[in-house]
Amino acid sequence: MKRKLRMGMVGGGKDAFIGAVHRIAAFMDGKIELVCGAFSIDPEVSRQSAEELFVAPNRVYANYEEMIAKESQLPEGDRMDFLTIVTPNFLHFGPAKMALENGFDVVVEKPMTVTLDEAKELKATVEKTGRTLCLTHTYSGYPMVKQAKAMVKDGHFGKIRKIVVEYPQGWLSRLSEREGNAGAAWRADPKKSGLSLVMGDIGTHVAHLAEYVSGLKITELCADLSTLVEGRVLDDDGSVLLRFDNGAKGVLMASQISAGEENAVRIRIYGEKGGLEWANEDPNNLIIKMLDQPRQLYRTGNAYTTPYALSSFATHNTRIPAGHPEGLLEAFANIYRNFAATTSAKREGRTPTPEELDFPTVDDGVRGMAFVQNVVTSNASNEKWIKFEE
Ligand code: NAD
Repeated sequence: MKRKLRMGMVGGGKDAFIGAVHRIAAFMDGKIELVCGAFSIDPEVSRQSAEELFVAPNRVYANYEEMIAKESQLPEGDRMDFLTIVTPNFLHFGPAKMALENGFDVVVEKPMTVTLDEAKELKATVEKTGRTLCLTHTYSGYPMVKQAKAMVKDGHFGKIRKIVVEYPQGWLSRLSEREGNAGAAWRADPKKSGLSLVMGDIGTHVAHLAEYVSGLKITELCADLSTLVEGRVLDDDGSVLLRFDNGAKGVLMASQISAGEENAVRIRIYGEKGGLEWANEDPNNLIIKMLDQPRQLYRTGNAYTTPYALSSFATHNTRIPAGHPEGLLEAFANIYRNFAATTSAKREGRTPTPEELDFPTVDDGVRGMAFVQNVVTSNASNEKWIKFEE
């Protein structure tokens, strides 16, 4: 591409959390610029946000419908190339579908939709339009997560037998949704959040991580959801037993009442010959534990030659020399960079490389919504195991 990709945004105004993270990530490589937006439910907040971000006043729209309709009418050389959707969950499907149908690529936050039916409809829309949809499962963007995936794929650990994923947070240990916390308020409202609070908000992240790193698919599950803070409408804590398509067993824990925890995402995978461990709070470290060997610590950015080189996927997603910390913003930027490279390749008529194609897509969004649906079904059932239906 001889120019920057042009991004539009729904949500992500001064009143929001994750929108600013998306902008940092999108701008990190200098290949994307923000050209338009409907940044907030409040038009004045949207206007002020646009002013601070130097977005031209005539490219600030009242809502996503107006934005997509008017941007579609602009000359090809001016209009946005893709839409980033960073609104509450119930406002993902509408803008995503309309953007795809009007010729725009999409970056959308997780959970992709609020129902499985909507997720399937988005998949059908992606297939019909040939556009690209990127789903921001942040943790899959880290170099050491890529390394873990590559080592599992190469058979370093032998056949995988056990997968343990955790996402404990403590920020909903109180009834924050009734204490003026806007982000907690919509998350705790079933109409805006979906069937499950904890599984939609953070369970989908670790379900994706388990399948992404292992390369396996969940085939059956047994779930227990709870509402442990009195007065809350949706669940805030969940444990799920998992079975995978190669016979491996797993455990997934997602909790927003783990008082004192921050974002303690962790994955452990064990095969016949050894295992691995990676944690979001220490993301440049990948711990390898082989039978009858001392533990090994793989670190981001090193030119190892033995016993195992860092994979092309790990190095492609590493930005600075070893020892300088890389974190969540860089992992987020990796997702944007790979998405941008893929959409640019398609525009140029070039086939994207496997490394460029390595970002979560609409298929992961369908898996995520199926996961939430199946967990809720299992929790309400007396059957011990239910089949993972998509
Ligand atoms: P938030 O409540 O902080 O911000 C929501 C934004 O959407 C606000 O700017 C609000 O004004 C705007 N908005 C609401 N309705 C709108 C409308 N009709 N038109 C335009 N803008 C509208 O929420 P958040 O924490 O930023 O979460 C947003 C999304 O991002 C959620 O789906 C959440 O699950 C996801 N998220 C993902 C991660 C991650 O790690 N990938 C982290 C946090 C949040």
